[in-house]
Amino acid sequence: MKHKISVFIVIISALICAFVAPNTSIRNEWLLLIGLGFFFVLSAGVLFMRMNYFVKSISRIQKPAILLTFDDGPHPENTPKILAVLKEHNCKALFFLIGSKAQQFPDLVEQIQREGHLIGNHTQHHSPFFAMMSRKKVKDEVLSGQQTLEQLCNKKINLFRPPVGITNPKIADVINQLKLKSISWNKRSFDTVFKTPQRLVRRLQFLAKPGSIILLHDNLNVTAEALPVFMEKSAQKNLEFVNESTINSFFQ
Ligand SMILES: [Zn+2]
Repeated sequence: MKHKISVFIVIISALICAFVAPNTSIRNEWLLLIGLGFFFVLSAGVLFMRMNYFVKSISRIQKPAILLTFDDGPHPENTPKILAVLKEHNCKALFFLIGSKAQQFPDLVEQIQREGHLIGNHTQHHSPFFAMMSRKKVKDEVLSGQQTLEQLCNKKINLFRPPVGITNPKIADVINQLKLKSISWNKRSFDTVFKTPQRLVRRLQFLAKPGSIILLHDNLNVTAEALPVFMEKSAQKNLEFVNESTINSFFQ
């Protein structure tokens, strides 16, 4: 919706420019500025899901608690470690699983579900070219991931997060067509960047505020190593995380 409004504003501005500009040189300068502004807004809309530029996404929770979200799993070593820590602290999380990995580790999918966490679709293959695919291929990837997870979980899966959090008009169309709930985040842990658990723990402590949806990855060693320390420190500070009585209320 915001994209359509931006396109409308750009067209109107360009038309006004064409008629009002006192001479050709000034008109060209104004058009260049409009073009650059549109390019900047468009780029930000593609890269930052939480702007809700192409599609409306949930990027914070309306409760004084913290929701941890884990992308790119399941992973045979790190997902079980993460599940154990979450269980110890009675914390429920949201796992965005890759369909092809879920097929490799169905027991982990079953464990995630059995232990009361939510499962979302992160496409079938998490292709780095997902955002560049044709509309049909985007739809195939999303549908295929959804079918895989629905078969393994034996329930409807309607939560979705696109790979790398990139959105564009094609991805937005597919999300709307399939009536998926797009889930973003408002706190990025950068666990894909941090090399040591200590630095990640410090970052997580900084991010942990009521209403936060934190982006993490359960396929990473650094995340599995940092999580027990972070959860222990959070317990000492009485920080509230999403639990079994609240997990289902957010995305209905
Ligand atoms: Zn991912």
